[in-house]
Amino acid sequence: MAKGKVFFNQERCKGCGLCVTGCPVKIVFIDNNSINIKGYNPATVTELDKCIGCGNCAIMCPDYVITVERD
Ligand code: SF4
Ligand code: SF4
Repeated sequence: MAKGKVFFNQERCKGCGLCVTGCPVKIVFIDNNSINIKGYNPATVTELDKCIGCGNCAIMCPDYVITVERD
């Protein structure tokens, strides 16, 4: 199984949740315990070791918040 790393520029995020719905392994979520500079709860990732580097989250994001690196 491919592996990847995903990075979020959280200050750009508007908390729309599109990336959450796009992740096939369900590791992207909205962090309700954090508020960014725009006043939104930003998206983040947990269990990064499960990321398969598919890039769906980055493709879904309308604001170019997410960068994916394939291992
Ligand atoms: S690259 Fe794919 S598996 Fe990894 S967080 Fe984004 S949508 Fe999920
Ligand atoms: S799709 Fe982009 S703007 Fe929307 S919650 Fe995800 S990272 Fe934030």
